[in-house]
Amino acid sequence: MELGVSVQPYERIYLLRIPQRILDEILEHARREYPVEACGVLLGSIAGGVGTASRAVPLRNLLASSKAFWFDVREWMQVIIDSRREGLEYIGLYHTHARDEPLPSLSDRHRMLEAPGEIWLILALRPGREPKMAAYRIDDYGSSIMRVPVEVF
Ligand SMILES: [Zn+2]
Repeated sequence: MELGVSVQPYERIYLLRIPQRILDEILEHARREYPVEACGVLLGSIAGGVGTASRAVPLRNLLASSKAFWFDVREWMQVIIDSRREGLEYIGLYHTHARDEPLPSLSDRHRMLEAPGEIWLILALRPGREPKMAAYRIDDYGSSIMRVPVEVF
């Protein structure tokens, strides 16, 4: 990305598995920030096309916006470097929407193009409603966004 360093997952991910415990942490982060979008890094292991998250690390949304997010790229990079020392792999990003549907926004789509192979997990959160989530991946310029199934365990 901006730093010119490749931090893509080393293997294509076709299924995202996420423990309920991690999901609860993300939802708690989302509720703390609401309606500002909460964002962070998803880490874990990748094998046989399956990404299994075992940690979610919050990043500060520098835009402090309810319509978009972005973070300090150095902070993001540091999280990935630190986690690699612990044997965790970079799966991608999570962020939240204070809207009804977890659909990538136009700016999400632009960012995804800069990060081929990354999983983007989006959680749509509105008070009094059941949160909805979806994960996506884009493989390279010119390819369309693919929905990646999510399995909670
Ligand atoms: Zn978004």
